[in-house]
Amino acid sequence: MTSRTGRHFLQIPGPTNVPDQVLRAMSGPTIDHRGPEFGALTLRLLEAIKPVFGTEGPVVIYPASGTGAWEAALVNTLSPGDRVLCFETGHFATLWRDMALSLGLEVEFVPGDWRHGTDPEVVAQRLAADLTHSIKAVCVVHNETSTGVTSRIAEIRQAIDASGHPALLLVDTISSLGSIDYRHDEWGVDVTVAGSQKGLMLPPGLSFNAVSHKALTAARTARLTKSFWDWGPVIEANRRGYFPYTPATNLLYALEEALRMLADEGLDAVFARHARHAAATRAAVRGWGLEVLCADEREHSGSLTAVLMPTGHDADKVREIILDRFDMSLGAGLGKLSGRVFRIGHLGHFNDLTLAGTLAGVQMGLELAGVPISPRGLGDALDVLRSR
Ligand SMILES: *Cc1c(COP(=O)(O)O)cnc(C)c1O
Repeated sequence: MTSRTGRHFLQIPGPTNVPDQVLRAMSGPTIDHRGPEFGALTLRLLEAIKPVFGTEGPVVIYPASGTGAWEAALVNTLSPGDRVLCFETGHFATLWRDMALSLGLEVEFVPGDWRHGTDPEVVAQRLAADLTHSIKAVCVVHNETSTGVTSRIAEIRQAIDASGHPALLLVDTISSLGSIDYRHDEWGVDVTVAGSQKGLMLPPGLSFNAVSHKALTAARTARLTKSFWDWGPVIEANRRGYFPYTPATNLLYALEEALRMLADEGLDAVFARHARHAAATRAAVRGWGLEVLCADEREHSGSLTAVLMPTGHDADKVREIILDRFDMSLGAGLGKLSGRVFRIGHLGHFNDLTLAGTLAGVQMGLELAGVPISPRGLGDALDVLRSR
């Protein structure tokens, strides 16, 4: 093994770099999860987390990866054979569709080219065509982490309202929450799915459901089999600050610290920071003469940028060189984008010089891999960082 000095650059779009103060918070002693100190911690957390979702309603916290919270959103609100409307925006939307199928739901899957988000007009058309209201839920991935495309949830909400359709709106914000503007209540989302290891700057291991009143009502009659994921007992125990099982105590310490950091910076400043770093990254990609995968100016992701390789060049080879030479991890192309794109994560605990170092590493890696690029890219990104 080669020896490494300095910090590893973890520039995948999750897990992201965990701030030192979050790691320190995690290193506290594990306490009795049925004692008064723990109860007080939970009650503080359940309040402090609400602004991040933009909700006044309950947020359920699971000791699970994001995939668990996907399942929770489906099994709490739906019944066997229910129809759900899903959109092929990329790899994660496809995996959520697969999960819905394996749970016994019927899925209407709108095909996509993995370069666009969910089209609000198509949502309106599909719902308008469903005269019997057999579609019970619309599932949308807010930020498709495999492509760097962000769907316009507010416009999707308007499309659902305009069609007068009663379907629930379930939204995956696993790689957008705490990085890209998001408003659970204002946008009328029924279940928001989130995870700890991306914009929230925590290690993997926690995930979340923010739940609307309408979703709670649906849960009363939903018949998909559930036990561990059942919101009911969790929300009930949470009233006094407890959980119906042993929670991930030390990750909850970390969550409290991360929420404090987000509140100190201010959510609007957090979103603006991500948007600016994303703009600088796109300037670099265009300066290199390469193409950003996202094909719609309205849908560029604030948390990551997927870069298309010129034909004949392998994205995984570039990533391998960058890891070997510069100790930086970049995101691989997932699913059908394998080898064709690499993904630059610019979310979470991140600043101008982290981005400058990241883009310098990418530029050198592209050159070493023999990809024909212009070295102007890095300078173009620095121009953006300097000017705003
Ligand atoms: C990471 C991610 C997931 C999967 O979450 P896990 O924590 O790996 O289970 C799902 N959806 C999106 C959009 C993601 O970014």
